[in-house]
Amino acid sequence: MKEFKPLFEDCTLSPLYIAGPCSAESREQLLSAAEGVSRAGVGIFRAGVWKPRTKPGSFEGMGAEALEWLKEAKERYALRIVTEVATPEHLELALKAGVDGVWIGARTTTNPFATQQIADALHGVDTAVLIKNPVIPDVDLWIGAIERIYNSGIRRIAAVHRGFGTHHATLYRNDPHWSVPIELQRLMPSITLISDPSHIGGRRDLVAPLSQQALDLGFSGLMVECHPTPDMALSDASQQITPEVFSEVIAGLKWRRTPADNGILAQHRMHIDTIDSRIVELLAERMEVAREIGEHKRQHGMAIVQRDRFNEVLKSAEARAEFMGLSRSFIHTIITAIHEESVRQQSEINGDN
Ligand code: PEP
Ligand code: MN
Repeated sequence: MKEFKPLFEDCTLSPLYIAGPCSAESREQLLSAAEGVSRAGVGIFRAGVWKPRTKPGSFEGMGAEALEWLKEAKERYALRIVTEVATPEHLELALKAGVDGVWIGARTTTNPFATQQIADALHGVDTAVLIKNPVIPDVDLWIGAIERIYNSGIRRIAAVHRGFGTHHATLYRNDPHWSVPIELQRLMPSITLISDPSHIGGRRDLVAPLSQQALDLGFSGLMVECHPTPDMALSDASQQITPEVFSEVIAGLKWRRTPADNGILAQHRMHIDTIDSRIVELLAERMEVAREIGEHKRQHGMAIVQRDRFNEVLKSAEARAEFMGLSRSFIHTIITAIHEESVRQQSEINGDN
């Protein structure tokens, strides 16, 4: 069993808060963010210097120059500083600038070669390392990245849950798939598990509820993007909040100090709630497709109910259900109800109702 240490020895307080802008944009912006974060009582300051962007041409961070501003923020406001590293060169520069910790971003965690390179460069180094979840909901890939870093001798490790990319529309920018961090915590009970509600939600108004949800699930800390003027942020503007708002969020959070009392039950319930939301989202997606089919049928004068097609759908769902250990009759009932609703919606399109 891997034994982890707290990120910072004197920071065993729970929850652990990390806040700061998505990106370091200018000296003024960074120092102003740092001042706000320190005023909010948060001791660990984050800022991205090299930004992994989906498309070229977007703001890719200010690079090494910004490390000087981070250094200044650290000295001026007595903050601990963490930044993202994606290559051994980033790591070397960040350590040279005196950062207290680094985080490995979701895209890097997804790539074992990249993670291994950073792990190799961490040999003999004493720093804190935060490892974000990979972009796909694969707990083994996440654990693999943690093990690579652990094997290089680092013990001050935290896992940061920032949600998972998804192709279907959900309320979130990155689907939380709470079962993945919960499984990680089960397999690595001594790891510090931190939630990043900013990247999960992608929206300011989701920071507070997602933070509470994470604490209820037994997470030990939060990493939140805070910018002095969020609307003007050069990256992730829609999810950043001011340090003042974060301080209000913190004040509103309920920290249940003994999650063990009902922790397991709360975790299972939260898991069930997440699955139920997924079911509703999938049903909405299915009805959307059904309505498109309804439109096609209307244009081509086709009958709405195609008996053979429905029998096929039913047969394959029942076979799959059986394979997955569910009863055929249960799935028969569900699929029939879904089909009835599809038919009702298609009739509406045809003006039959
Ligand atoms: C970030 O924290 O700004 C970031 C780029 O995160 P992620 O790797 O989770 O997308
Ligand atoms: Mn960001």
